[in-house]
Amino acid sequence: MNIAIILAGGTGSRVASDIPKQFIELSGQMMIMHSLKPFADSKMVDGIQIVADSAWREKIESEICGGDNAELTRKFMGFSDPGENRQMSIYNALKDIDSSSEGVGGVIIHDAARPFVTVEDIDECLKTLDAHDGAMPVLPMKDTVYFSRSGKKVDELLNRNCIYAGQAPEAFRFTEYLRANEELLPDKILLIKGSTEPAIMAGLDVAMIPGNQLNFKVTTREDLDRAREILEG
Ligand code: C5P
Repeated sequence: MNIAIILAGGTGSRVASDIPKQFIELSGQMMIMHSLKPFADSKMVDGIQIVADSAWREKIESEICGGDNAELTRKFMGFSDPGENRQMSIYNALKDIDSSSEGVGGVIIHDAARPFVTVEDIDECLKTLDAHDGAMPVLPMKDTVYFSRSGKKVDELLNRNCIYAGQAPEAFRFTEYLRANEELLPDKILLIKGSTEPAIMAGLDVAMIPGNQLNFKVTTREDLDRAREILEG
């Protein structure tokens, strides 16, 4: 059994909106609803746990249950509390899944702020768990990449053939990944910047798989305009 964790616990300030970016309306629906749909459609996902602040739960639940997506309603398991950082939000959801469900083999973690994820992206990630502890979709670096400590002067030119941009969703074997996160409690987990980091630190075998250019994260106002253009033509 595979469970999806959808992260909507951030407060996202860079979009210059008075509400968190994952709840901004995109083509008639909250952004998170676009991100949820492929997880409802994937035959490899059995349940969906959402991390969201209590202020947003009623609205999310009414869109899930009031819409015409029966699979989404059936798979929705419940809400978890947002953490101090993204990784603590993930950990809170892992703990809730652990106490509510048995026989969880895999967990797939996605940002509500990435509304263009596809069923293929999800299924490729989960299939990778047959042979590995984790799967991380990546994009190769197209531009020349420089390293600079000051942000003003170049220290080094990096070999872009060895540099990749990580995306979500990422998938992990549940028990191993939960343990990897527990090992970082209480303080080290607050320094984690990407969901794969705890798995790497615990020595798990995480495979890199091809990412999807269209599956970008909405971070800035320009990203939001691009998302609207794609969805609304
Ligand atoms: O801020 P950032 O763009 O990196 O957030 C990525 C995703 O993680 C967003 O969907 C956001 O809502 C979520 N998040 C979270 N809990 C946090 C921080 C971010 O669920 N503490």
